Amino acid sequence: MVKIFRSCFILLVILIILLLALIIFLELGSSWYIRSHPSSSAPEILVCHLDYYPVVEGKLSILAELVQKHENGERITKDELDQVVILAPQVDMPGLNGIVCNGMIIVSSRLQGSARLYIIRHELEHVFQMEGLEPDCQDPELCATWVPAREFPLGFVDAILSSLREAYRISPSFWEFLFSSWYIFKVYLLP
Ligand SMILES: [Zn+2]
Repeated sequence: MVKIFRSCFILLVILIILLLALIIFLELGSSWYIRSHPSSSAPEILVCHLDYYPVVEGKLSILAELVQKHENGERITKDELDQVVILAPQVDMPGLNGIVCNGMIIVSSRLQGSARLYIIRHELEHVFQMEGLEPDCQDPELCATWVPAREFPLGFVDAILSSLREAYRISPSFWEFLFSSWYIFKVYLLP
């Protein structure tokens, strides 16, 4: 009996050491990734250029209505999320699922179904934050990840899987995929 406990304990210690080594490896790798990919060298995000994506007044007024609804404590429906969004080709927003630009919510047309709804809701949460409607939120990115995740749990998982596939597609190497994904995992999911 004592022998089994000792074996289990040794196994646990080895597992913890391996896990720590993995985290240190990913941390070193992601800091290398950030150093070798400065934000100044990031590809241009065309969806934020008014020449390419001019303001759509109809979308601004729907967004204003949703902000008002949220302020009144009313729930935002799936139809309303579909109506407020502007869909754009992935090539116009490299590396992004969604963004708020010039007062509009723009989401990649790559995303379908519940993943798309989740990302629209994520961006909408950022709009609520900008409007000062989420004063208790300490970390805007974390809140915009977890608040919609409670509403769209399947969309949350689907959006992560779709993001991983997209990151793998655009990464020049497996290591860049791994380290950039670890960095994104920390920003969006960890406190
Ligand atoms: Zn965000």
